[in-house]
Amino acid sequence: MYRVTIRRTFSAAHTITIGGVREAMHGHNFAVEISAEAAELDGEGIVIDFRTLKHHADAVLKEMDHSYLNDLVFFKTTPPTSENIARHIFNRMEKALSSEKATISRVTVWESENARATYRRGARG
Ligand SMILES: [Zn+2]
Repeated sequence: MYRVTIRRTFSAAHTITIGGVREAMHGHNFAVEISAEAAELDGEGIVIDFRTLKHHADAVLKEMDHSYLNDLVFFKTTPPTSENIARHIFNRMEKALSSEKATISRVTVWESENARATYRRGARG
């Protein structure tokens, strides 16, 4: 199994409720790591062109960059926590790469240098 990972960033604000307490609106400079995997390399020796991954990632992240996440349609009923942001990006990337041989394997969202959340499918690490 081969895995490639790209890193992108975006900035956004959100308000979340933790322990029943609604936090004040605040922003993060989010960093996002998106990994794709393939059992075998293609004829050119790669999992997927990094540029393809970056192209699709930038399209997804552009919708969130400099936004108030709570106002976006996909977070209307789902709290915009780092966990849910990771799942949202995962689902969008999976759809965007549906014609590729490589599959999205995990998405990690860093909301600070010391705190991250990861979404992935299945039991693989
Ligand atoms: Zn926050």
